[in-house]
Amino acid sequence: MSALNDAFSRLPATPRMPALFVGHGNPMNAIEDNAYSRAWRALGDSLPAPAAILCVSAHWMTRGATLAHVGARPKTIHDFGGFPAELYAQQYPAPGAPDVATAAIELVRSSHLEPDTEWGLDHGAWSVLIRMFPKADVPVFQLSLDLSKSPAALFELARELAPLREKGVLVIGSGNLVHNLRALAPGAPVYDWAQQFDDKLTQLIENRDFAGVAQAGSSGGVARLSHPTPEHFLPVLFPLGVAAPSDEIRFFNTSFDMASISMRSFVLS
Ligand code: ZN
Repeated sequence: MSALNDAFSRLPATPRMPALFVGHGNPMNAIEDNAYSRAWRALGDSLPAPAAILCVSAHWMTRGATLAHVGARPKTIHDFGGFPAELYAQQYPAPGAPDVATAAIELVRSSHLEPDTEWGLDHGAWSVLIRMFPKADVPVFQLSLDLSKSPAALFELARELAPLREKGVLVIGSGNLVHNLRALAPGAPVYDWAQQFDDKLTQLIENRDFAGVAQAGSSGGVARLSHPTPEHFLPVLFPLGVAAPSDEIRFFNTSFDMASISMRSFVLS
């Protein structure tokens, strides 16, 4: 038993790091100068320098296991189709964080996390980080979303990761609070159902009813329209899971892109 928590205890203690939810939206935000990417840049400048970053992205989905990437040189994954060559040419050569990933594996007891050496950084992670931390000098690792777990179980798993914030780890959930690609309508006003679900989640988050957020994702009606599939919703449970009672919540990028993608994001600090 003495080996338990060894990796965690070896990480130097720090003041509590903020935690983030980022609505990542269109992969082009990685290379376009727009209001969203400018907000990411400004946020990166305003944050204390993290010792490492844990990103839970909508784009790493597993079933039956939660994987933690322990590679030392995570590759940049261009997991999208039909975009300009400039986007495929982007690299985000940040080092991995195998020590922190190992500590995360130790911390979670509610389920068995497994080390992974195959993944890297998908665009849910790097399209945001390339703006937020353009020097790519902060070690980063991803944790997969196990779609066989309920939102409530993922929220409980996330809660177990909270101590990482006291080790300088910036926990980022990267998804979208409303994400319906079939309904995309450039230039059109936001759909009523989309606005309703965004408002509902905002209210639950402001009321700190985080279990209610987890529940809202699997309710029918506007939730189903807002998330025909759950993967862009689930990452929000990670910053909420590591929230501390004293954290203040600040929303940013609160608009919709193409009528059915909520870019609403928040900082907990
Ligand atoms: Zn996405």
